[in-house]
Amino acid sequence: MSDTPRPELESLLSRRARTMTASAIREILKITQQPDVISFAGGLPAPELFPLGAVKQAAETALNKYGPAALQYSTTEGHPPLREWIAGRHGIPAQNVQIVTGSQQGLDLLGKILIDEGDTVLVEAPTYLGALQSFQPYLPSYAEMPTDEGGIDVDALDTLLGDLARQGRKPKLLYAIPNFQNPTGRTLSLERRRRLVELTAQHGVLVIEDDPYGELRFEGEALPSLYELGLQLAGDVNRNHVVYCSSFSKTLVPGLRDAWIEAAAPIIGKLIQAKQGADLHTPTLNQMMMTELLPLLPAQIETVRVAYQARCTHMLGQMGEHFPAGVDYTRPQGGMFLWVTLPEGLDTAALLPRAVERKVAYVPGQPFFARGGGLNTLRMSYSNATPEQITAGMRALGETFREALA
Ligand code: PMP
Repeated sequence: MSDTPRPELESLLSRRARTMTASAIREILKITQQPDVISFAGGLPAPELFPLGAVKQAAETALNKYGPAALQYSTTEGHPPLREWIAGRHGIPAQNVQIVTGSQQGLDLLGKILIDEGDTVLVEAPTYLGALQSFQPYLPSYAEMPTDEGGIDVDALDTLLGDLARQGRKPKLLYAIPNFQNPTGRTLSLERRRRLVELTAQHGVLVIEDDPYGELRFEGEALPSLYELGLQLAGDVNRNHVVYCSSFSKTLVPGLRDAWIEAAAPIIGKLIQAKQGADLHTPTLNQMMMTELLPLLPAQIETVRVAYQARCTHMLGQMGEHFPAGVDYTRPQGGMFLWVTLPEGLDTAALLPRAVERKVAYVPGQPFFARGGGLNTLRMSYSNATPEQITAGMRALGETFREALA
């Protein structure tokens, strides 16, 4: 050992790094990952539905088609045919599409280019924990939008914007997941979407619409995205105040980390610069493989929808049978999650060890709230569970809740 004094490494960490905390969910997943525990805690797509053979074939096709270029550095904006295809969905130019390494990177980069310390960011209560993790290092001040069965309560948002204006606070951005929200599974109605887009335009608030689950609708009619409504309102792709994030993670596979952002030119321009500093570009081969996989996408989405609908229906049926009166839950029209609310006074984090003793696990709801609360709530995912696991799991959870209420 040398005598040279060593710096106190923790004291060298930036203020930004000090705001980071281990994801509460990752910590919980560790407890719940004992081999004999049936876990509804993670948000994993069903791996048995991954089109392994087609992915293998896509790698070979891309390598044959592009040769060494498939393994070379490539442009920050992304693989042109992939950008073209994505742009075509909303009828916008490919220049308005930025490929990102998972929409998680998209959220981080958007935080980086948009949030200054102390900026007010509007988030749903509850919201996607990963977005809070992405935004937190940029030191926002969160304002929570009240939600109900229909997602964001736009009347309450109107009031909130008025209250904030009176306090001299002008929110900079609003983050929302209108389709089959993570964590609640709720969907925003068309009427609310329209009003939200108009209201935010009036107040000069940028909207980040996060839509990884929109294609996974198994009930009801598809609704226009906030992005499309924003486009109609602005009449110009480069004046749309809605930014759209989506991903192939839930429709195809998450491991290739292929995702994208659609936005007006000034936002895309900054994203390119921010992404250069982050990773230069999303892996070239992965983007080429995804492009080869696009023809398979409609059939794959149908397979996933059918499977998730069956799992969700079964879970709801079993919850109806086993959960005691007073336990409320959402009935998603798509996606991977549902949200359970226990009677006031019960604490789902405190109950988790008792559920794990009965060999079943969920995620307590509190970490999904930017400003705390939601002690009596929890999230479950049905996407990665067999019917047998769902039956046994809901029975065990029902017993856990009954015991807590006794
Ligand atoms: N947004 C939401 C709402 C999510 O649920 C997830 C994944 N759990 C992501 C973004 C990140 O997805 P990915 O990085 O795989 O595209």
